[in-house]
Amino acid sequence: MEKIEITVVGAGVVGLAVALELSKDHKDIYIIEAEDSFGRSTSSRNSEVIHAGIYYPKDSLKARTCTEGRRLLYDFCAENQVAYRKTGKLIVAVNDAEAKDLAGLLRNGRDNGVDDLKLLSREQIKELEPNIQAKAAIFSPSTGIVDSHGLMKTLAVQFAANNGSLVYNTRLTGIDKVSDGYYVTVEDKSGEVFKFFTRIFINSTGLNADKISALAGLSKDEYKLKYCKGDYIRVHSSKAKLINRLIYPVPKRAGAGLGIHATLDLAGGLRLGPDDEYVQNINYDVDPAKAGIFYESIRDFLPFIDLTDLSPDMAGIRPKLQGPGEGFRDFIIKEESQNGFPGFINLIGIESPGLTGALSIAGIVGKLIK
Ligand SMILES: Cc1cc2nc3c(=O)[nH]c(=O)nc-3n(C[C@H](O)[C@H](O)[C@H](O)COP(=O)(O)OP(=O)(O)OC[C@H]3O[C@@H](n4cnc5c(N)ncnc54)[C@H](O)[C@@H]3O)c2cc1C
Repeated sequence: MEKIEITVVGAGVVGLAVALELSKDHKDIYIIEAEDSFGRSTSSRNSEVIHAGIYYPKDSLKARTCTEGRRLLYDFCAENQVAYRKTGKLIVAVNDAEAKDLAGLLRNGRDNGVDDLKLLSREQIKELEPNIQAKAAIFSPSTGIVDSHGLMKTLAVQFAANNGSLVYNTRLTGIDKVSDGYYVTVEDKSGEVFKFFTRIFINSTGLNADKISALAGLSKDEYKLKYCKGDYIRVHSSKAKLINRLIYPVPKRAGAGLGIHATLDLAGGLRLGPDDEYVQNINYDVDPAKAGIFYESIRDFLPFIDLTDLSPDMAGIRPKLQGPGEGFRDFIIKEESQNGFPGFINLIGIESPGLTGALSIAGIVGKLIK
């Protein structure tokens, strides 16, 4: 039977970043991916925002990987000609109650080491963004956007240059623990089944991560993922140049999404969303009725957008550990020796800011393996 040193399952942005990091010190690394290319799942269905790290509880993995990952990501993009833009972002308050909430967010961001945040008055907001309506705002200059496809392509190319092997169209179907590693069973698109041995197994399968862990015999209640869909609505191109930065509302509830916001893309487009709706199945259709709902939630702070400017765009699904109405849950980034699975690394619940934090998550996995 073929023996492999390290197997990473899942070629999303996190699996690619982890594999590239490990390929700097280790030989004989495989990425196994069910789809016909990288990033066919959540990694290409997101806002492509490089988050600053304002919202997450201090010292959480989400906070740490976001602030560190953001710096690493800007450097990586600059060094490797991956397109990005440090757009900056405003979190806008439209009434007194929300203006009060900004103080808590500002404190939280600064506690997380986001040291460039500024509180803006109505007049200062008007200077930056004449077309939006707000009483007060937090300005985050280090928030930006990135070409996620370009990023993943560069990670994949560099991994291959380090002699890593990326195997597409191949689904993991079984994993059995043996004394010094794992027997891995995979099936290709034609139905042919292969079995090989790996010493280290990295589960980076996004929406499937709890099931893949359970497949190995490591099933835990706290690993159970819930699917939380985020729909996007496109704003007509004639309005896309009316803001210069990403515009977010003050988040309404802890643990859910960040509220319907306006994000720019590198092609010059403007989108609203994503919302947060728990779903049972993976279905990326966008309900056209969402246009009206989104319009109601943004009209106070984005008054230049009319309902007739809006049309359904795309959707993504978050692999969430917290269920509806539950409090904060952190990323699970764990070497599972304690649970009797040495050399088995679980990456579970890698929702936002997983794109921003990917290079930092990769560094953590590198240390776990050492
Ligand atoms: C609506 C939305 C908006 C977001 N916005 C942002 C944002 O602006 N900024 C940010 O930082 N983050 C954002 N995120 C989060 C970010 O997109 C994710 O954290 C990140 O893409 C996760 O990457 P991943 O590699 O872990 O997972 P994925 O991209 O899901 O990759 C997992 C891979 O595993 C493969 N796989 C699964 N099962 C198997 C199997 N059995 N065998 C082989 N392969 C398998 C899949 O095909 C897939 O390619 C957002 C997420 C959503 C849903």
